[in-house]
Amino acid sequence: MNLEDRLNTELAELDVLGLRRRRRVLDSPCGRLATVDGRELLNFASNDYLGLAANRDIAQAMADGALAWGAGSGASHLVSGHLAPHEALESEIAAFTGFPRALTLSTGYLANLAVTPTLAGRGAAVFADKLNHASLIDAMQLAKANGAEVQRYPHNDVAALERLLAASPAGTKLIVTDAVFSMDGDLAPLPLLFQLAERFDAWLVIDDAHGFGVLGPHGRGSLAHFNLPAHPRILLMGTLGKAAGVGGAFVAGSERAIDYLLNKARSYIFTTAAPPAVACALRRSLAIIDTGEALRAALFANIGRLRDGLAGLRWPLLPSLTAIQPLIVGDNAAAVALSSALRERGLWVPAIRPPTVPKGTARLRISVSAAHTADDIDRLVTTLKELA
Ligand SMILES: *Cc1c(COP(=O)(O)O)cnc(C)c1O
Repeated sequence: MNLEDRLNTELAELDVLGLRRRRRVLDSPCGRLATVDGRELLNFASNDYLGLAANRDIAQAMADGALAWGAGSGASHLVSGHLAPHEALESEIAAFTGFPRALTLSTGYLANLAVTPTLAGRGAAVFADKLNHASLIDAMQLAKANGAEVQRYPHNDVAALERLLAASPAGTKLIVTDAVFSMDGDLAPLPLLFQLAERFDAWLVIDDAHGFGVLGPHGRGSLAHFNLPAHPRILLMGTLGKAAGVGGAFVAGSERAIDYLLNKARSYIFTTAAPPAVACALRRSLAIIDTGEALRAALFANIGRLRDGLAGLRWPLLPSLTAIQPLIVGDNAAAVALSSALRERGLWVPAIRPPTVPKGTARLRISVSAAHTADDIDRLVTTLKELA
């Protein structure tokens, strides 16, 4: 079959399965309300956990930054694209996370591709949680292509991981995990993973996309939540397009590890540095996160209110303490129908189906934000109860 025919066939298959993806155009900034197709929807579909995506101060910092530093960086970081705002942001992220040094990248996807495949090549072994984010899975595939051996352990199964580590003769070992799992909202047992890393001389690579800004004192993230140190055998990746409300990502670690990545990571080296105004906006966002206890208190009050409200509903919530609150519906069509029924009533809650989640666990992924009011949460709870 030639390519043209194959594309037609496969897209038609997606249509038949009801899996063809289409984007919704928003006629409003990201916020608690989203205007879609001329209608205002209450938005439970974004990762804007602190409601910073449309924050005026951050937008102003971006505008000022663009006027002061121009629209573009002009080159990759190693050539001539590393401007003073990038450098300042990296220092501030290092200080904020407690690591000696940090590197910023344009997206979390690129940050994950920068870490595991660069550190794990021939003779290395990578141990990865089965429910890791797609970008970590792609990073593993690249590590494999670089000669590393890759083993996936059952979700959060520390005993299984211990057996794999004990059996591994590899000199370089990397444990790779999401800190907060993006479709379940649960946490990785980071203290136990860190103990295993110490015992088996492995490094721990943590993707804190959903913990950064939200968990721990000052929103410092999952490591701070568990009171774990910024240890040299830990590499912490965080994204800056979720709670931080802007875009981009960082990797924080020891001076040596970060310098190595700066020299060797292809997804860092061979791409244009993010616009300096993005760094300016992120510096403002970081300051807001640092002193954002009221935002986090509002977020956690909303999470508690939602969980209390939905307790005992025919669809169970997974036991998540984070802003990601999955309501398990089970059947694919039923999850999609529930999402549509909510939309008709002015509520935007996406349905997530296999293969993104395991078969039989199709769900609504409710994203809670500090920007929601108590009335917003009550409206979702009441509507779901009516639909049940
Ligand atoms: C969103 C996400 C990423 C990718 O980050 P981007 O900045 O959106 O590219 C990586 N890991 C996890 C767990 C995520 O949820």
